[in-house]
Amino acid sequence: MKIKNPATDEIIVALKPDSKAEIGQKLAMLKIGQKDWAKETIDDRMSCLVRFGALIQENLQELAFLLTSETGKPIQQALNEIKGAHNRIEHLNAHARHWLSKEIMVDSGGTHEQITYEPLGVIANISAWNFPYNVGYNVFLYALAAGNAVAYKPSEFASLTGQQFEFYLHRAGVPKNVFQCIIGSGDVGQLLLEEDFDGYFFTGSYGTGLHIAKSVAHKLVPVQLELGGKDPLYVMEDVLDVKQAAINAAEGAFYNNGQSCCAVERIYVAERIYDDFVAAFTTEVKSYPIGNPLNAETFIGPLTRPEQLQVLEYQVADALAKGATLLTGGNKIKGKGNYFEPTVLMNCHHGMKVMMEESFGPIIGIQKVDNDQAAIDLMRDTAYGLTAAVFSQDKERAMLVLEQMDTGTVYWNCCDRVSPNVPWSGRKNSGQGVTLSSQGIRAFVQPKAYHLRP
Ligand code: NAD
Repeated sequence: MKIKNPATDEIIVALKPDSKAEIGQKLAMLKIGQKDWAKETIDDRMSCLVRFGALIQENLQELAFLLTSETGKPIQQALNEIKGAHNRIEHLNAHARHWLSKEIMVDSGGTHEQITYEPLGVIANISAWNFPYNVGYNVFLYALAAGNAVAYKPSEFASLTGQQFEFYLHRAGVPKNVFQCIIGSGDVGQLLLEEDFDGYFFTGSYGTGLHIAKSVAHKLVPVQLELGGKDPLYVMEDVLDVKQAAINAAEGAFYNNGQSCCAVERIYVAERIYDDFVAAFTTEVKSYPIGNPLNAETFIGPLTRPEQLQVLEYQVADALAKGATLLTGGNKIKGKGNYFEPTVLMNCHHGMKVMMEESFGPIIGIQKVDNDQAAIDLMRDTAYGLTAAVFSQDKERAMLVLEQMDTGTVYWNCCDRVSPNVPWSGRKNSGQGVTLSSQGIRAFVQPKAYHLRP
């Protein structure tokens, strides 16, 4: 499997994908290791994960370089991701003991009732490339903390980072028969579906997620899906500073080249500020430094997957044919690498693909709205349900909009953010199940009810 640098098209290295036999051997080994790992105290398990976190931070520069080389993520954003993901470890370390301890529900009268939380066993984590630290940690660290063993299949576009997770987890004291990295593309992911895992935890596209859920349904094991989005932002006319609102919105749409599951993917703007907002937004986007992702000042690097270039070209052509106005960008950048110009389209409507289908790239559609109800109707008009945002000075008015969103997360005066303190979940085609927070840890355990009569 050739690992290509998306900025230069050069082959970095070739890796040997895991075969069916190797996957079987790894699973057999994990089944043995998991039993001992589950018997360790939560303190012992957490100390390994804390050591892992420290090792990652000690090797930050080298790991960021690797992430940039294989995904094209601008180096500053790679550093931000690796540093930022550490908050999962701090949060887990502060709370996991409490979350996983026995709960005594009744301790009087004739019957004593309590709940204990047991690990699922050996889980498969099939993951995405866009934020491998964030989405990886959300699953495998919580699973390990709860006493599970993990077969982690990084995306074929983040395999080198996946191998580093394995290397540093083992160095931090997580036994080899408790965490194993499985290398390969979709065909190797498919092999995992045929094996006897105790749970499947997937981060990726709707199409693959649906296929996984259908393929493993007969096993009756937990299946969790963190999928894509078409996340709306509504900018009300009362924002304090239109220019600042435009700068913040542009960052929400274009950070990581728009390749974030919770990136702002469509913007609705109140009529009164529409022209000013669009002008400030376009000026901001035109100022983004594009180029070599290893340069510290680069904000827009190459797309990770070359196939996405065609999706973006198609969305632009479709929008222009249906009456959108192109304010900047619109084309693939000639030369080496998967570069696409940051693109802003105005006068968009829901007949256009750019307003309805996940773009996952540096492109945004902007639409004018007359009032809050029109914005609510448009924001809700989607097959996805990951996040939705409102910018406004009026909290009460913003909350009235946010309460009507059928999404797992809503934002007021912010967007494109994830926090370990609150659950992360998608509704409708954005997925099923929850990661992060006290609720996310429950995905990796099964409760056992004890009815005890002394
Ligand atoms: P993808 O679906 O192409 O691939 C995801 C993983 O599935 C990869 O590891 C891939 O090898 C594997 N895979 C592919 N075919 C498979 C099969 N038949 N059986 C088993 N595994 C298979 O997605 P991607 O391009 O890696 O990620 C981008 C998508 O992920 C976007 O839609 C994005 O919005 C979504 N995403 C969602 C979240 C979230 O938290 N909701 C986070 C990050 C990314």
